[in-house]
Amino acid sequence: MISLVTGGAGFIGSHLCEELLKKGDKVVAIDNLSTGSLENIKDLNGNKSFEFVNGSILDENLMDKFTERCDRIFHLAAAVGVKLIVESPLESMRTNIKGSEIVLQMACRYRKQVLVTSTSEIYGKNKEGLLKEDDDRILGSPLKSRWSYSTSKAVDELLAYYYYKDKGIPTVIVRLFNTVGPRQTGNYGMVIPTFVGQAIRNEPITIYGTGKQKRCFLHVKDAVGALMKLVDVPEARGDVFNIGSDQEISIEDLAKKIVALTGSKSEITYIPYNEAYEEGFEDMERRIPDISKISGLIGFKVNYDLDSIIESVIEYQKGSA
Ligand code: UDP
Repeated sequence: MISLVTGGAGFIGSHLCEELLKKGDKVVAIDNLSTGSLENIKDLNGNKSFEFVNGSILDENLMDKFTERCDRIFHLAAAVGVKLIVESPLESMRTNIKGSEIVLQMACRYRKQVLVTSTSEIYGKNKEGLLKEDDDRILGSPLKSRWSYSTSKAVDELLAYYYYKDKGIPTVIVRLFNTVGPRQTGNYGMVIPTFVGQAIRNEPITIYGTGKQKRCFLHVKDAVGALMKLVDVPEARGDVFNIGSDQEISIEDLAKKIVALTGSKSEITYIPYNEAYEEGFEDMERRIPDISKISGLIGFKVNYDLDSIIESVIEYQKGSA
């Protein structure tokens, strides 16, 4: 089995490549190293079953060539992270919409299976407890840049869905909720690597807003395990699945936990959203996935608790410091 992983040098992509190789697949990773890095895949480079291609999913000739050669595609390449989206909305939309269309067009040309990664941002401001796959999306104005991400990923979902429905391409869509682990950087705003870095350096911990907003964090290995199982299940085709943890914590409690686990002297500070992001920025108060659909289909469960997730990030950051 040859798997093509777009975004294969990224945080989640590199873990996926590693696990696919362990399973005996051959893996081709395509990445333009915009947010991914060679460092993420340094341990894979000696592996004869692994090939890294430094290129963009926007390059149709490249995508044509590698899609023809592979058996299936895990499409992870995207502009991700709220900070990056807010700072470069146009570039992010181009990567997410045009890039996904090219991936799906090529999959259609060569009749290949595709797993498309979407995001919990799809649900927008919906905070009705557990979010189910067919719940309403509640979004702010498209002119607020945060919502451009949600909108671009919704277009990806539609493309994946209609390539399945109209063209018969076996696509499956996953909505990843906050996913964390080694190799994730805080450069694009992700909260756990940011707080861990601040705590290790004894710098102030930067809570945005009141810190009462809540999130659920899943270890990247749990997420990758789910992607690999789901892609093999025929019943998943043409359908969408939440992947995440359902254990909630407030950002304030998260900050305290990280200070305690690192034994840090950092003080906890609060920064208004309009300073952290931009004027009029809207955050989600809470976001908990309903994971009954994926649990029912592939027996998905959360194996890593929050403490072990944080420990794995501490270990990674100390090791690469
Ligand atoms: N956050 C924070 N300080 C930071 C980075 C993020 O308080 O330095 C908050 C952010 O405003 C959000 C939560 O942590 O409420 C999770 O942010 P992240 O960007 O990791 O993911 P999101 O859930 O927003 O996609």
